[in-house]
Amino acid sequence: MQLVRWLAALAVLVLAPVPQAMAKYAVQVTLTRAPEGDWLVDYRFVRRSPVWVLMRSNGDLEGKPWRPQSWTVETPGVRLDRVGNHDILASDSGAALDRVRIRMRPYVRPLMGDYTPVLTFSDGGLALFTGHFRVSPIASRAAAAALPIDIGNTDVEEVNEYFTLKDPGRSLLVSGRAASNSVAMALRGDGLYVYSGSSKVIENEAFAGVVDPGLPDWVRGELDGFTPRLMRLYADRLGRMRLGRPMALIAWQGADHPGSSLAGSVLEAMVVMQISGEEVLKTSPALLARLRWFLGHESAHFWMGQTVSYARRNDTWITEGAAQILAIRGTQALADDYDADAALQDELDACLATTGAGEPLEKAEERGEFRAHYSCGAMLYLAAEAAERRADAAADGFRFVRRLIDDRREAGTVAADDWLRLFAAASGDAALAGDVRRFVEQGSPDPRAFWKRLFGAVGVAVADKGEGLRLVKPGEEAKE
Ligand SMILES: [Zn+2]
Repeated sequence: MQLVRWLAALAVLVLAPVPQAMAKYAVQVTLTRAPEGDWLVDYRFVRRSPVWVLMRSNGDLEGKPWRPQSWTVETPGVRLDRVGNHDILASDSGAALDRVRIRMRPYVRPLMGDYTPVLTFSDGGLALFTGHFRVSPIASRAAAAALPIDIGNTDVEEVNEYFTLKDPGRSLLVSGRAASNSVAMALRGDGLYVYSGSSKVIENEAFAGVVDPGLPDWVRGELDGFTPRLMRLYADRLGRMRLGRPMALIAWQGADHPGSSLAGSVLEAMVVMQISGEEVLKTSPALLARLRWFLGHESAHFWMGQTVSYARRNDTWITEGAAQILAIRGTQALADDYDADAALQDELDACLATTGAGEPLEKAEERGEFRAHYSCGAMLYLAAEAAERRADAAADGFRFVRRLIDDRREAGTVAADDWLRLFAAASGDAALAGDVRRFVEQGSPDPRAFWKRLFGAVGVAVADKGEGLRLVKPGEEAKE
């Protein structure tokens, strides 16, 4: 019951279909389960336009478009194409699209910087992300080709779109509301996952949701044990999160590939995780550390990402960097055997590898180095944390993030200007903050020199090893 209560409070969807009101929707999209694991995606375009752009068009982990690997257009004279940064649906003749049928083979792998299209559960359940079906009318292929990845700040029109999922005989779950046979809603915002399957909703102090019954026991144990401690720690150090107890969809994708894979993302009051790989069947200290770090990163987004979100996509480093540093500091606080120094060193190495001379951090995604947002972002927080500690020896690793959240809690968004303003205040050094701004907005002519200068100014010991930079652990200087 508790679940129903808090979820009802944040329901953002219209569950009941309202046929007479359908006229206000420019687009209707209906998903229907088809035989052999496929789905039929039926678009009905009420608005007249020869070209429709798929608003979310990030690539797969190799940077290739994922829809051509998953979607086959069955309607003659209509094609799915990639132009510039986006997938489009367009007619061969230039006529306006009317009804378009697509056969979809669920795409279940993670994407680069966007939500996995379909999560599969080992009992046959699945969860589909609605945001990937959002479309906008656009004048021409050429206009679509000119769009940036993030069309949020362009004049591309957001039209009303109505989404229906039909899966007769299965139980469905949307934002914690159960339904059977079908669900329907207006699509708005980022979108959400619709779960269809037979798993029971579980609840604990930290979250409610669907946890794959196939997950290895030790992983379930960590979810039950570590996650609530972590969430308590974050709440204690960072203050209240905006959205109460979140919902989790945690899918086990099987052990049929070697190694291990942990992927996750966070959206409105919901965390989704996909765990897979042969190595995950047995616990090991390294894997345990990674799982904890992973839980730490994803859970951190309920504060940096949801309580406060980035203002523009270019500001991704602010939220991903915070999630990285919080995961490291959180795991360090809760797990005695965790090697935080090694984790920080990995971030520094990754940052130097992904941000060359003259390459602005905020443009990392456009040059295919999305990971720079995580690693360089984490290093900027490491500098900010040290600046705080310089001013107050009692400051812990959470202090700067807490300041940032409190400063922006009301506004709900954080941009580079906000981060830099607080960094200038913490370090008492406006010129240094200007240096960081150049690194973010223009790129540094010599990134390694930039980091040496920045760390030197705030008191993070670092040694230049010729090949790269090494963070020097406290008390280790004597050995240099
Ligand atoms: Zn993240």
